[in-house]
Amino acid sequence: MKNEIEKIEQEAIADTSACKSIEELKEVEIKFLGRKGLLPMLLRKIPELSSEDKKTVGQMGNVLRKNLEEKIANRYFELEDQQEENEFFDITIPAKPLEKGHHHPISMMICHIEEVFSRLGFTSISGAEIDDDWHNFSALNVPKDHPAREMQDTFWVKNIDDHVLRTQTSNMQIHYMEANKPPIRIIAPGKTFRKDSDATHSPMFHQFEGLMVDKNVSLANLKWVLKTALSEILEKEVELRFRLSFFPFTEPSLEVDASCVQCAGKNPNCKVCKGTGFLEIAGAGMVHPNVLRNAGLDPEKWNGFAFGCGIERILMVKYQIDDLRLFYENDLRFLEQF
Ligand SMILES: [Zn+2]
Repeated sequence: MKNEIEKIEQEAIADTSACKSIEELKEVEIKFLGRKGLLPMLLRKIPELSSEDKKTVGQMGNVLRKNLEEKIANRYFELEDQQEENEFFDITIPAKPLEKGHHHPISMMICHIEEVFSRLGFTSISGAEIDDDWHNFSALNVPKDHPAREMQDTFWVKNIDDHVLRTQTSNMQIHYMEANKPPIRIIAPGKTFRKDSDATHSPMFHQFEGLMVDKNVSLANLKWVLKTALSEILEKEVELRFRLSFFPFTEPSLEVDASCVQCAGKNPNCKVCKGTGFLEIAGAGMVHPNVLRNAGLDPEKWNGFAFGCGIERILMVKYQIDDLRLFYENDLRFLEQF
């Protein structure tokens, strides 16, 4: 019986390689492996063998079955390839139009913001998303035991001492001031990270930072720059409202509200601004003297303003989107609207 198995093996291999078409190969498969094929029929005789032969013949039969299945499957692929190559291919038929994608709305907004600020003389910079404690906190006037650290739920990096996923783009202020002399006019768009997740918070989101350092910079300069830039970015002439606030890196600190893009404060029933006429849009202030000092600048000689603004926030205000998570779900029905 061993001889018979070997004979089937040789014959099946020869037949398989001799096949010229898929139809022929199907027949070969049936001939050797089909329900009434040569190999199954032979294996059905195993119970008649002595118990020792049962074992060896059984094993041989199983190995052969596996081998043949594999050989035939490979031959199928080869024949399919050949068939495709032989098919008539009309090279004069125009190609199917490619479906074109476009940039993600967040990327488009970053480009737009960079363009608007470049016209105001601001250079766009980018940098460290993982940063040390000094640049993310201490140099920004947030010392180790300062309660302001509690304001931001920080991701700390495992196994690297004192490193965080930056909680704001403000770290770039320090990096830039350490390497460049005033006058300084920069924006720094990029990713920031905080342990926070709901309809209006995501553990990763985008901000852009703005920094201007020069002689005799004032809040009036800040207001003009922000009003001009935000009106262009939102494509609507906005009025700004400053409210006093607290950030460790600015003094005084301000919350910046823009007049409602929907009703401009004229509709007490407006859903977008809930009738208040204003929308929170940015945090800002005059750079704290300690921050200038930490970056190696003399606050007697230089001063400046800084602001930070959520990029998703701008998009949500501009297009009246109420769930931040839509930006990360990659649903084309949403993305294609931009
Ligand atoms: Zn409104």
